[in-house]
Amino acid sequence: MSFEPFALHARVLSGVRAVGYTDPTPIQTQGIPHVMAGRDVLGLAQTGTGKTAAFALPILDRLVRDPKRGVTRALVVAPTRELAEQIHQAFGELGQATGIKSATVYGGVGMNPQIQAMNRGVDVIVACPGRLLDLLSQGHGDLSRVEVLVLDEADHMFDMGFLPDVRRILRQLPRDRQSLLFSATMPEAIRHLVDETLTDPVTVAVDRSAPAETVAHALFPVEAHLKTELLRELLRRWDARRVLVFTRTKHRAKRLAEKLDGGGLFVSSIQGNLSQRRRQEALDGFRRGDVHVLVATDIAARGIDVAEVSHVVNYDVPDTEEAYVHRIGRTGRARHEGDAVTFVTPDDADMVRRIEKVLGERIERQRLEAFDYDVPLPARLDADERRFQRGGIAGGGQRGGARVGGARGGGRGGPSRPPSGGGRPPARASSGEPRSSGGGRPSSGGRPSGGGSSHPRPQVVAPTPQHAGGEVGEGGRSRRRRRSRRGGGAGARD
Ligand code: AMP
Repeated sequence: MSFEPFALHARVLSGVRAVGYTDPTPIQTQGIPHVMAGRDVLGLAQTGTGKTAAFALPILDRLVRDPKRGVTRALVVAPTRELAEQIHQAFGELGQATGIKSATVYGGVGMNPQIQAMNRGVDVIVACPGRLLDLLSQGHGDLSRVEVLVLDEADHMFDMGFLPDVRRILRQLPRDRQSLLFSATMPEAIRHLVDETLTDPVTVAVDRSAPAETVAHALFPVEAHLKTELLRELLRRWDARRVLVFTRTKHRAKRLAEKLDGGGLFVSSIQGNLSQRRRQEALDGFRRGDVHVLVATDIAARGIDVAEVSHVVNYDVPDTEEAYVHRIGRTGRARHEGDAVTFVTPDDADMVRRIEKVLGERIERQRLEAFDYDVPLPARLDADERRFQRGGIAGGGQRGGARVGGARGGGRGGPSRPPSGGGRPPARASSGEPRSSGGGRPSSGGRPSGGGSSHPRPQVVAPTPQHAGGEVGEGGRSRRRRRSRRGGGAGARD
């Protein structure tokens, strides 16, 4: 199916053509007709499904058909500045022939351009709740003529403690409006919000596993102190140009990026400490391909939308199984194929079990051929480096001589098949595959560990839909207060 049947305004359609979309994604096929018809819509969809265009195209259509100058007519509320920025860009690209303008409003950057945009009555405001409320309470902007409200990633807004702010914003909007709410999961709090916000909504649910069906998952059991070398070796063999690496903390993200950078490989990190400008620079570099490897924390990576991320590497396992689903959602997006590689130490066995439960499949263990898994933790290291190499957790990580869970005898009963019987070839670094001929210098360990070829190739599995979502993230405002209220979680450690 093409975009023609939606009967979008010609100038909106020309934007669709300009960005190169040929067929609508399932959330677009199902959602756009209802939004065009003016219905309130509850969209059960996660980032990566094409939900932004599902609401942006009908909004652009509405605004371009009946232009009004100097009036803010659509408000999109999103949990993070990255997501807000992406939505704003989507409006800019899809609406490039319409003359409709959008502006972002979020914390961490100067207020003046935002104040000017709000007071000018920009057509579409894409905002994070905290800064928007601040500016509204200072008397800037006027939301009394908003025709369409979008609450995006509502479950994340709940996770981040934004719902009270969202409700305060809702009070400033006219009752007579169209409301669209998108959420990957439906916790009780979001059900209440739906009841309060939407009138007679149509529910549109897409198979939330869809973007991840193109992802091949693999676990690499490894002692904590060998993770960096293993990653270096994988990066050499992949010769990959867009790899997203996740660490547990911002300190580890920064440090790992410094360690990996060099020798023709350009590596950046994004973490909560960076200014918005520095984050954007790193992201833009990654998008352009100038930065080959981006090391990020869960929080900083929220909403990263870079097409064609070839590999997601969980250098540290995530804190929750939901975070795993979110992390791997950064690859295999919009039908591109991707590999999700997770380093697991003996301490991670419990989380691995939980992740496998969510995926509904056992993830294949892999051993990299000719990589020396027996190099001990160097005796002489400064305290900081020792801590890093042990996994960054006091007392965690390396346990002298401990066997790496799952590495040996991998594959109880052999590798399982992809659920569909189809799928794509496994991760390129899979054991048993020849080393890439180009550019692969020997691992610094040198000594072959042996037995590599007996390890099975990774399987291709798709996560079950009902478990997506739930990542805890970072907001622009009152973070410390929110974290303590929510009792920490992944965000508290970033
Ligand atoms: P979203 O879920 O809105 O974050 O979109 C995820 C990615 O899919 C973005 O990079 C979009 O540009 C891309 N995308 C959205 N709709 C389509 C489409 N119909 N065809 C191809 N790519 C799309």
